[in-house]
Amino acid sequence: ISLANQIAAGEVIERPASVVKELVENCLDAGASHIVIDIEQGGRRRIRIRDDGTGIVKAELGLALSRHATSKISSLNDLEAIQSLGFRGEALASISSVSRLTLTSKPAQQAEAWQAWVEGRDMQAEIAPASHPDGTTVDVQDLFFNTPARRKFLRTDKTEFAHIDEVVRRIALARFGVRFSLNHNDKPVRNYPAVSAQQDALQRISQVCGRQFTDPALAVEHASGPVRLWGWVAAPEECRHQADIQYFYVNGRMMKDRLLAHAVRQAYGEASGLADPSSDSMGQHRVPTFVLYLELPPQDVDVNVHPAKHEVRFHQARQIHDFVLAAVRSALQQAPS
Ligand code: ADP
Ligand code: MG
Repeated sequence: ISLANQIAAGEVIERPASVVKELVENCLDAGASHIVIDIEQGGRRRIRIRDDGTGIVKAELGLALSRHATSKISSLNDLEAIQSLGFRGEALASISSVSRLTLTSKPAQQAEAWQAWVEGRDMQAEIAPASHPDGTTVDVQDLFFNTPARRKFLRTDKTEFAHIDEVVRRIALARFGVRFSLNHNDKPVRNYPAVSAQQDALQRISQVCGRQFTDPALAVEHASGPVRLWGWVAAPEECRHQADIQYFYVNGRMMKDRLLAHAVRQAYGEASGLADPSSDSMGQHRVPTFVLYLELPPQDVDVNVHPAKHEVRFHQARQIHDFVLAAVRSALQQAPS
């Protein structure tokens, strides 16, 4: 395992929750329909993620652990129209450079399961037969065991688990058809059963965000050509009852994008008729509260801006901003006042 991997790990793998995010995204890219996430001691002891996706054939197990090995991109063209969540081929290599990682997999078409792991610098992965149902398990133990400086930055188990919980929540809000189970120290903490597409989206959203958000929430539905925004927002006077519910998805990826945030805030500002939309006359915060899905042609947006993949670049930024503003504005006008 090379130094380059450890440096890359420093950028992408900040804490156990970042590991969970990368691994769960791999499960989704593999077409999993049920993802089981077992956490021990806030993730510092163990993060084990099992899926029932396509699996990895024996010949590619070792490769999957090496840097820039991705099965998801074969040309620059692909890179521009990228649909899968991962595409850098860095996650497994990075994580394995700062933990004890084993990868076990069985594609349906292969009779037996195989397991791969790497130990020490610049080593080839070891491969051994294993027992595993169709799908893949990645078992990450002792995160940052060899990077004490990083380990020192970890917070309490409770805090680290809360970050993991939030990562799972974000992903669950984007993938309704996938079931997620999250366990901590052998206790079940979350179970989000699959729901069918958009009609039942509100069911998942209310399980993840709570009824205090969904029951009074206002529906957003706005389209213009191939661009569409849908989802739910809370009326400004409901927002103070909400925890921090601000989820914006662009083509199935969660984004924390300034342009989008600005458009939503502006709509809220207009609706509450206040100069400063972040506080009301009682001095309480009225932070906009929303779960929104923007869908547009993949070639109109560049998601390859930051490794954490939270920011996007829209080719027609102004139009997108105004589109989102108009959509949220018209939803907020439904609010009884
Ligand atoms: P990337 O996701 O960017 O391709 P990763 O390092 O996350 O890179 O994964 C490397 C490769 O390992 C993937 O391209 C994929 O082929 C394979 N892989 C990883 N996790 C899984 C999984 N859960 N199921 C099937 N294949 C996987
Ligand atoms: Mg990946």
